[in-house]
Amino acid sequence: MKIPFNKSTVVGNELEYIKDAIDRSHISGNGYYSKKCVNFFQEKYGFGKCLLTTSCTDALEMSAVLLDLKPGDEVIVPAFTFVSTANAYTLHGGKVVFADSKDNNPNICPKSIRSKITKNTRAICIVHYAGYACDMDEILEICKEHNLVLIEDAAQAIDSFYKGRALGSFGDFATFSFHETKNISSGEGGMLVVNNSEFYDRSEIIWEKGTNRAAFKRGDVQKYECVDVGASYLLSELNAAYLWGQVEKLEVVTAKRKEIWDYYYNEVFKLGYFNLPEKEEGKDYNGHLFFLTIDSNKRSELISNLADQDISTSFHYLSLESSPYYNAGKSCTNAIRFEKEILRLPIYYSMRIEDYKKVIDCLSK
Ligand SMILES: *Cc1c(COP(=O)(O)O)cnc(C)c1O
Repeated sequence: MKIPFNKSTVVGNELEYIKDAIDRSHISGNGYYSKKCVNFFQEKYGFGKCLLTTSCTDALEMSAVLLDLKPGDEVIVPAFTFVSTANAYTLHGGKVVFADSKDNNPNICPKSIRSKITKNTRAICIVHYAGYACDMDEILEICKEHNLVLIEDAAQAIDSFYKGRALGSFGDFATFSFHETKNISSGEGGMLVVNNSEFYDRSEIIWEKGTNRAAFKRGDVQKYECVDVGASYLLSELNAAYLWGQVEKLEVVTAKRKEIWDYYYNEVFKLGYFNLPEKEEGKDYNGHLFFLTIDSNKRSELISNLADQDISTSFHYLSLESSPYYNAGKSCTNAIRFEKEILRLPIYYSMRIEDYKKVIDCLSK
């Protein structure tokens, strides 16, 4: 049987909750299920204000609007990431500056961040690649030293920790993705976490198309009107209901993915042939994605050999710095190396033991 690279997660009560949302006759945003999800995240992870959004891309855009970027303002982002991490700031008037990955891990390198800071730097958006924490002590130090806003693109990092503290709780803002390829999903969906209380009020207004509708609904103001810019960033209750079906099983989902991840790690280690991801004390990952690295001129042969055995693998990202749109040079050499060397193995919630054993069997051959 063919082993797909990814399969969307269904864990139990999703359909029942969608039906319930319909019965409650509130299927637009910010209703019963949105609040259940948000309360869960705030209580479990100590997040500040949480707003469910239509995607992580939109949550990143909201952070860009909140930054109120002026011409010339620079935002440092990793070269090795999904396009949205950079595009959100470009779209809202910022100048994106790319920092390189670490030598031994695709995550952003604190030393490279330092080398990219200028008098125009306003913010840094870091990405916890594979749900594995960036070097938070150093990064927080840099932000403090230079008075920079920190955004965590935690799209892949739900239920991951750094020294016991949840990823997504460090930045002024953090963004999560509930796209179907992530650990828990609502089909398309995301969340903006606002940890810096200075931005609480404005974040809610931008979320509600530039109006004070959320305050009106709470009874805080007598009428609602246009008070700022904004867009329609709210997640529908239909999607939030689906998401709640997954949020309430998050522990089971993370445990299953870590079981597969740990199996891969130990078995690939025994093979001795590939390079494995960094695994540091205090960085508690969520099994979002498993990658190894292999010499770039052997990678495509390995991919096609595995495909011949009905195993789908994948690779990403192409360094944004040298992408056709940004075309900003090739200074991020580690990002370019990871672009060429990373191979991702299949990992998904419904994966059976015989499936991931087969992946290792074929890999060893
Ligand atoms: C998936 C992902 C995104 C985009 O998430 P959407 O919800 O699809 O918009 C952004 N950044 C990173 C690092 C991602 O992995």
